[in-house]
Amino acid sequence: MDMKRNEVDRSKLSPGMKQYMEIKDEHPDELLFYRLGDFYELFFEDGILCSRELELTLTGKNAGLEERVPMCGVPFHSVKPYIEKLVSKGYKVAICEQLEDPKDAKGMVKRGVVQVVSKGTVVDYEMLNEYDNNYIASILKINGTYTITYSDISTGSLYILDVYDDKNKLIDTILNLNLKEIVLYDNEEFELIDLLRNTYGIDINICGNYLEDKYEYLYKDIKEMRYILGIKHLLYYLVVKELKELDHLEKVTIVNPLEYLEMDVHTVRNLELFETLRLKERTYSLIWLLDKTKTAMGSRMLKNWLANPLKDKDKITNRYDMIGKLREEFILKDELLNDLDQVYDLERLCGKTVCGNLNARDVLQIKRSLKVLPSILEKIKTLGFKYQFSDEHELYNLLEESIYEDPPIGLKEGYLIKDGYNKELDELKAIRSGGKDFIASLEEQERERTGIKTLKVGYTKVFGYYIEISKGQVKDVKDEYGYERRQTLTNCERFISPLLKEKEALILNAEEKIIELEYNLFMSIKEKIKKEIFTLKAIANDIAEIDAICSLATVADLYNLVRPEITDERIVDIEEGRHPVVERVSKNEYVANDCKMDKHTNTLLITGPNMSGKSTFMRQLAIIIIMAQMGSYVPAKKAILPIFDKIFTRIGASDDLVSGESTFMVEMMEARNAIANATSDSLILFDELGRGTATYDGMSLAQSILEYVNNDIGCKTLFSTHYHELTALEELKGIKNVHVEAYLKDGNVTFLHKVSPGAVDKSYGIHVAKLAGMPPKVLERAEEVLNYYESQDEKAPKRNSEQVSFDFDEPKQNNKVMDKLSEIDPLKVTPMDAINLLYELKELSKK
Ligand code: ADP
Repeated sequence: MDMKRNEVDRSKLSPGMKQYMEIKDEHPDELLFYRLGDFYELFFEDGILCSRELELTLTGKNAGLEERVPMCGVPFHSVKPYIEKLVSKGYKVAICEQLEDPKDAKGMVKRGVVQVVSKGTVVDYEMLNEYDNNYIASILKINGTYTITYSDISTGSLYILDVYDDKNKLIDTILNLNLKEIVLYDNEEFELIDLLRNTYGIDINICGNYLEDKYEYLYKDIKEMRYILGIKHLLYYLVVKELKELDHLEKVTIVNPLEYLEMDVHTVRNLELFETLRLKERTYSLIWLLDKTKTAMGSRMLKNWLANPLKDKDKITNRYDMIGKLREEFILKDELLNDLDQVYDLERLCGKTVCGNLNARDVLQIKRSLKVLPSILEKIKTLGFKYQFSDEHELYNLLEESIYEDPPIGLKEGYLIKDGYNKELDELKAIRSGGKDFIASLEEQERERTGIKTLKVGYTKVFGYYIEISKGQVKDVKDEYGYERRQTLTNCERFISPLLKEKEALILNAEEKIIELEYNLFMSIKEKIKKEIFTLKAIANDIAEIDAICSLATVADLYNLVRPEITDERIVDIEEGRHPVVERVSKNEYVANDCKMDKHTNTLLITGPNMSGKSTFMRQLAIIIIMAQMGSYVPAKKAILPIFDKIFTRIGASDDLVSGESTFMVEMMEARNAIANATSDSLILFDELGRGTATYDGMSLAQSILEYVNNDIGCKTLFSTHYHELTALEELKGIKNVHVEAYLKDGNVTFLHKVSPGAVDKSYGIHVAKLAGMPPKVLERAEEVLNYYESQDEKAPKRNSEQVSFDFDEPKQNNKVMDKLSEIDPLKVTPMDAINLLYELKELSKK
């Protein structure tokens, strides 16, 4: 069963298999789902792979060869979960359909691939995560600039973004956009491809063509050649390789990163904006807390706002104003929320209308969404919000009149269209039900005519209508009745009669026509929806924004948030700030903290024991700033903030983003990135910088980086450290010491989580180790060693550069002392031994 497709003798193949081969030749990289009657079948390597991945039985098919061709299959009506599973594993699936009705076919039924589904081009919203956009991108490198053209086919959005020749920035952007699939022009950048594909699981395709002519409207207003090329490149892949219909694509939006607060991928991860660091889950992330939206579109919009906080003061305060208004008009807001609850994922329904398998249930979702538009519009007007959209009442009326309320998923089973919508359909239905009524009354008539009391009229799909007579009474059937025996069962026999057949033909004929007519009517309704696609998408966009704003207003109420004040001065003045997620999740009472940095303060140098809350304090500031700039109220009693341009963080354990590098290397790379890109309007968070290397090394680096950031860049910085020596830097202009308090009680450390001015000089490391359950023996020994070091430190002369030199011209007679000294391992002596040694040395020196 390991027959290879390319190795078989094609001349021997049956005509059916020859047709398969020709189609498969066109799709070597995809798994070909080949429609045969009620099944999709997969052959050769595709069959073997799918039987493994989908846990299907591998069988064989006679195809003219000596051996049977490996094959597996799935029923057409339940194909979706199988395709879903394969696509999520990164395979591409080509769906090959019968292009004509087998009944009408002269010879072989015409077949062809109707579409290709890959990770980045899924359209069915059931297969997608409603919180996320699903982007596919073309990346072209033109004159040193990477042009990223990306689109979410399920919604029809299209964007372009430039990244100037900087590979790290490119990777950062790709990860931040969460691209699922990328199309490159060639495979020259081998290392990049390898990293994206193997480390980040992004589907990479190479495609060296551009699509001409089709969809020109997408770029007709664009001058830059590289943008046009980007679009044509992406389109080629989508249209030619994946056979997509793209009539719902919107005109391209050129993204200007300078309009948004810049955060690199470390920052996004460290601050747990979209998923937690440890479990990589949405629960307990910031978006999890903020997302109280009612619609999927609103949820994606809010995520987008959080990923791209604004820098324009007017746009930011406009969102505050809306939140404020919603909080005032809370009854109206609740009603609005009820309306929004009725709205389905219009955006993706639009995508499905154009390039998916729209069914009647989807159309009902569109209808129900449209139904509440007038009510939403009215409330928006009362609130004074500037959104304006059509209420699409014509389309609503059409759908209300036409679509049956409880339709099946399939389009070839009837029950799509309501009575009264189409005259011809109503007539056919009358014929059908007339026939059915007649048959229903036939039972009574025949019982009377024949006198057989147990006579029944029934129906099966295979035999059609029949007259059933129990075994005991079969003898009473007379020739004159005109019954013809069809089937014998254990305790009855089934007959047909000419009259029954005549009526049956009428019913079945009507039935067939009904199904076809309903299908055609449905298709023409779909066309009408298509004509409204761009209006519907505009509505969807407005609804998404309204929903996102409502969510922020709800969160502001729920979590006691405050409207920030944005000023043009370089002042950070936060009173009683909180970390919104830690506050929700932590079992203990959350301790609110101020964060005050006046115009002249650039840096807060934070000291305090481990576990006291230093990094929470730092994250808290960043999150308050991000929330403020996304247009949200913030967790504090009061917050005055400037607008920041970029946020850099180096917090906590390094994640394994850059695999293969040591922790310290990663730390230094992240720090370098911050230093190289920060401006005076940026925010930097450095947590325990330098701890990844030897003490003096680390401390020196920490100090010089701190000086550089404070003096040369002059941005706002929070710098936590347990090098207490650094607190002396407060003498420098712009640096202020703060510390997080802790105190000792009965040998146990208690954290207050309160940030106060000044520095601390105790680190309580051993106490934290005790909290962690370290064995007493280890703790006692650590105390001893600590005491030794502390006493050494006090005795040590103050260092300065002149004193850090060694005198090599030691007098000869001191050699014994030196020998003895070199034997001592301070970490292995007990205090008792130390005293004895000291005594011994003293004696030696006298000699
Ligand atoms: P550090 O960075 O100083 O080692 P963390 O910021 O990681 O400390 O905080 C240690 C623990 O203290 C965390 O579990 C956190 O939940 C809790 N914590 C931090 N800040 C506060 C606070 N302001 N109020 C209450 N608990 C806090």
